[in-house]
Amino acid sequence: MGDGRACGRACQFIQPDYPALEIASHGTSADLSHPDQRFFGPHHAMLRARLTQAAPGAQWSGITTTLAARLLESGAIDAVLTVAPDPDDRWKPLPVIVTDPAQMAACRGMRMGFGPTLALLEPARDAGHKRIALIGIPCQVHALRALESELGFERIYVIGTPCSDNTTTENFHSFLKLLDPNPETVSYLEFRADYRVELRFDDGRSPKTVPFLKLPISKLPADFFPMTCKTCVDYTNRLADITVGYMAGEGDQWVIVRNARGAEMLELLAGQLHTAPLGSKGNRTGAVKGFLQNTERAAGGLPLRAMPDWLRPVVAFLQPRIGPRGLEFARARVEMKAIETVLHLRRAFPARIKNMVPAHVWAVLAPMGITPSQGEQRGPETPAVPPTMPPTA
Ligand SMILES: Cc1cc2nc3c(=O)[nH]c(=O)nc-3n(C[C@H](O)[C@H](O)[C@H](O)COP(=O)(O)OP(=O)(O)OC[C@H]3O[C@@H](n4cnc5c(N)ncnc54)[C@H](O)[C@@H]3O)c2cc1C
Repeated sequence: MGDGRACGRACQFIQPDYPALEIASHGTSADLSHPDQRFFGPHHAMLRARLTQAAPGAQWSGITTTLAARLLESGAIDAVLTVAPDPDDRWKPLPVIVTDPAQMAACRGMRMGFGPTLALLEPARDAGHKRIALIGIPCQVHALRALESELGFERIYVIGTPCSDNTTTENFHSFLKLLDPNPETVSYLEFRADYRVELRFDDGRSPKTVPFLKLPISKLPADFFPMTCKTCVDYTNRLADITVGYMAGEGDQWVIVRNARGAEMLELLAGQLHTAPLGSKGNRTGAVKGFLQNTERAAGGLPLRAMPDWLRPVVAFLQPRIGPRGLEFARARVEMKAIETVLHLRRAFPARIKNMVPAHVWAVLAPMGITPSQGEQRGPETPAVPPTMPPTA
């Protein structure tokens, strides 16, 4: 953005004001006494869904890019802001303004890296686009919402995806090298909800899956995931009109409709969507407790307590069968992210906790006995954004 001072308000990692932005976006903020809203943010409906005909090249069935294509086709918008694969590196996100619905097909799939999609807001406005859609991960959507009222668009449809962690495209290439002897042939990667990473290839090999427990995580550098991702407070993209993910979908997608605009978008897929209620199985308590203990050790500088090699295949076999699934799996991941956020901030940037950690994260952590210490919570009299935020750009 041209206005450098706007960064202070836009950045999710400085002083986010989720209740205010939720009210501005959805007309209401999350009811933290409601178990699903506490974990997943404000919503009218959550469902398990998939396109009856999966879109080729999509990360899952392609609900995300098809929603955007339908918005263009219906004339509701003039342009979509999203990322396409960089022509020189398919894993690198390249921000693009799409005006032809057929071009959404080229944007399908997940890329690892940070695409400066919001840098296209001003060019899109200058090109005369008045109604747009933006597809983004939570930190991008937070920045969009914080600035939305000043951008001068008539209408912005916000399609969000959840995001557990992101990294640089360079780091991601190092990860691929550890996973496969021919990393340049990997055309698809996903951390699935059945505790396996799926890899697809474009050299004729069949897809393969690797249990999470057998991933070479210990070989990754400590800064593989940046501190921002490790301390992210919004896994489920709570400010999007509609969130399209997979964590609770048990093999299908997981759609969270947050407001009337989200419902309007979903309506555009009527007749193309197979839907079902979300399931919830297993008990997350043990898995989350183990994660908490390991994160405490890591935050205290101690090595992670590794599972003995002989036990790994047994647990890798059992996890998808008896581990938490559906909504229980999604709740476990949200709790794990909340644990990481607070423990990493306490270790590395304790002074930031007061401004960075919103009430919904403390609400998720409270049943585990993790509560704000003195000075870790903003008083109600403190404005969310100080009137004289210093320039940060
Ligand atoms: C870094 C990252 C982490 C994610 N982690 C999770 C997770 O933990 N749990 C979960 O449920 N879902 C997660 N997702 C979302 C998931 O991978 C799917 O994108 C989502 O389920 C939509 O599937 P689809 O078939 O509808 O998408 P498609 O129709 O294939 O469309 C995918 C859309 O995502 C956009 N996109 C791809 N890469 C990026 C990127 N780097 N930055 C911004 N936009 C991008 C594409 O441009 C496209 O518009 C993550 C996505 C990203 C980018």
